[in-house]
Amino acid sequence: MTDENVIVVDCGDEVLCDFCNDSYTDSEEVGGCAIGTWAICPKCKGKLTEEPDQSAGENETFRDFVYRLRRQ
Ligand SMILES: [Zn+2]
Repeated sequence: MTDENVIVVDCGDEVLCDFCNDSYTDSEEVGGCAIGTWAICPKCKGKLTEEPDQSAGENETFRDFVYRLRRQ
């Protein structure tokens, strides 16, 4: 028996957009940004009038970006 294609996800590490409250925990959508402690998803980023403090990398998913912020 092999354990191929097992994706390790830290359960309980839910990723939500602080603007629209959409869940990105299982999303592979790339982009997003943060203002202070607010995580802003790629969709809401386009509606921003303020300059974000930090932005996701070019190929970084919003989820990974939020995890990265939390580790800082
Ligand atoms: Zn949003």
